[in-house]
Amino acid sequence: THFGFETVAEAEKEARVAGVFSNVAASYDTMNDFMSLGIHRLWKDHFVRSINPGSSSTIPSSGWTMLDIAGGTGDIAFRLLDHCTDINNSPQSTITISDINPSMLAEGKKRSLQTSYANSPRINWLVANAEHLDTVESNSVDLYTVAFGIRNFTNKEKALREAYRVLKPGGVFACLEFSGVTNPLFDAVYKRWSFGAIPLIGQLVAGDRASYQYLVESIEKFPKQEEFRDMIKDAGFVVPGKGWEDLTGGIAAIHKGIKP
Ligand code: SAM
Repeated sequence: THFGFETVAEAEKEARVAGVFSNVAASYDTMNDFMSLGIHRLWKDHFVRSINPGSSSTIPSSGWTMLDIAGGTGDIAFRLLDHCTDINNSPQSTITISDINPSMLAEGKKRSLQTSYANSPRINWLVANAEHLDTVESNSVDLYTVAFGIRNFTNKEKALREAYRVLKPGGVFACLEFSGVTNPLFDAVYKRWSFGAIPLIGQLVAGDRASYQYLVESIEKFPKQEEFRDMIKDAGFVVPGKGWEDLTGGIAAIHKGIKP
């Protein structure tokens, strides 16, 4: 359409998501720790290990060109770079950290100053909507990651098509996202925790109930494992194995696709 949005509802969703993440940017990490009891750190570590970035079996010695979408505070990107350097001896690997929200990226930049990547030429910062990665060339990326981001996108199919476009043939799409708890009893406990405690914690710790209410609802609405796997396939990716790995009983899941 003329405004680049599919509908008014989509434009509204985008504005609401922008508001939520501007509100939570500063308290984002603390809140993640509270809400997930620290488990999100283990998931992120596992996510990165499972990708094994910087490994030389598939990519030449120039290192990996990585793109972390919805990269917010740099949480995933710093881990990816660490893994490239420490595990795979690939200090040449680089990453673009991209997010639609400048406040989240500003928080990431601030945090990078406390890491060994302060002002590092290995990191490039990009404010962009995952649905329109206009400044990222087609077939230019070895690894596309998105962690706890895609459920906030207005048009997920479009974002998946963009992921496909920017990846090189053989490049990997890897997504870490909340998913569906597979055990009904555990699911009941989990729902009580998320719908009951999380908005309350949001109110008490960050003084912002509404944003955390939104986060819980967005988790509930996001497609479950099989459906999301099929969306990845529909975007053109080849999906290895069954297509996903459940974490903590399916509270979160890792989905992967390879561009043929
Ligand atoms: N990846 C980080 C992590 O795992 O901690 C941050 C995840 S945070 C929950 C979600 C991020 O998605 C926010 O920084 C938000 O600004 C970003 N986001 C939401 N919609 C987006 C879009 N359409 N394109 C790019 N980023 C988006």
